[in-house]
Amino acid sequence: MAKSRHGRRELHSYTIRGMYTMNRTVRAGDAVFMRAPETEKDPYVAIIQKIEADNRNNVNVHVRWYYRPEETKRGRQRFHGIRELMLSDHYDVQSAETIERKVTVHTFKDYTELKFISPTDLYWRFEYNAKTGACKPGRVEVFCKCRMPYNPDHYFMLQCDKCNEWFHPRCVGMSNGEANKLDTYVCENCESGKRVRKRPSQRSASQVGPKRQKT
Ligand code: ZN
Repeated sequence: MAKSRHGRRELHSYTIRGMYTMNRTVRAGDAVFMRAPETEKDPYVAIIQKIEADNRNNVNVHVRWYYRPEETKRGRQRFHGIRELMLSDHYDVQSAETIERKVTVHTFKDYTELKFISPTDLYWRFEYNAKTGACKPGRVEVFCKCRMPYNPDHYFMLQCDKCNEWFHPRCVGMSNGEANKLDTYVCENCESGKRVRKRPSQRSASQVGPKRQKT
């Protein structure tokens, strides 16, 4: 084990105290919920960089914070899913005692492919600069008449059989139930013969669109 100048020892793991008996060992690279000082707030989410004990055996964790969209300068947008986080450039040191439990922060692509989503499944698709409030990537693929990035919480979308563009039923004046009954769908643009703006051709891992079919 590495020893540093101030009598601190680096630890390979830390065992979470508290009510969760399963999966209590955390290591560098694990994502965790950490108790927020205000008890009514959702727990903070961080990725552990390093675990250290001082000479009195107090254990501290070096963390990199994930921000919830509402904690960012722009605030929560309509396309942000309820389990969405942003990977910030904000590093910190916290007492290991504030760790509540281990969670999984998926990439956006992996999250959209999950079959089952548990309360500890979260995801990120943007990096966040805590000083400037800038997000990376600055542009992502958008869908529908509303020109919004994909929100995995609103995964039920209609696909136009002509241009293959995806639409939120509500944005084209339908309920999900009505949309579900359709065998085919042709969007307004294709019906009126208007040319549709082509989607951006480059796609990166963080620019993944809806996967699910319309029925
Ligand atoms: Zn829409």
